[in-house]
Amino acid sequence: MNILNVREEWSSLLLNFLVCNSCKFLYREADQIKSDECPHCRRVSSTLELYFPLNVFALIDLIQESYQSDGNANSEFTKHEYKHHLSISIYFCSLIEVLLQDFLEQRMAKMELPNQVQGLLLKDYRYVHKRVEKLFPTLIGCKWKETLKTLTAGGELDFVAAIEFYEEVVDKRNLLVHEGNKWAIPEDMPEKCALQLDPIIKLFVRLHNEFVAVYLNVAETT
Ligand SMILES: [Zn+2]
Repeated sequence: MNILNVREEWSSLLLNFLVCNSCKFLYREADQIKSDECPHCRRVSSTLELYFPLNVFALIDLIQESYQSDGNANSEFTKHEYKHHLSISIYFCSLIEVLLQDFLEQRMAKMELPNQVQGLLLKDYRYVHKRVEKLFPTLIGCKWKETLKTLTAGGELDFVAAIEFYEEVVDKRNLLVHEGNKWAIPEDMPEKCALQLDPIIKLFVRLHNEFVAVYLNVAETT
């Protein structure tokens, strides 16, 4: 799917994952073998709900709005483009921060850590770098980068590249926000941010299915 050509809501296309009430597996309706049945545990879900929190929808809507807004730019680097580059990079970084926090919260809930402990851990590891380098391996038992490599292996999407791109956006955003370098963000970065939305969402779906969903006995195998 080339999201850049899609005029309808990117958020509804990218985030249409349902969550199974029984095993917490995330899947799309198209993955169902039987209607209303989870493809992972084969149990019938009593309700089918979209999984992602509202702020994830909002951030993707904002990225799309910024990307598709036509500023009638006709000079080399207009005020509009500056705002457009800045807003997309900020929304993109926020999106990963929100997805990461949501995943860590779900994982800690699965481990039945008391709410107070969860809150303290998130406070102690406030920044993304510390969260992935320190908190993630503590909760998962495997390093962040190693996990990205494992999830990438043999698949169609390169999650290692997606996160390396995110790190690049963080660096450029910081140059722009903290040092006022308005040339910091390369011209093609907004487009790349939009193109990385799909792999980023799918990375967090994979993380959820690997480390949050539970394995229940499959009722029947085919
Ligand atoms: Zn299930």
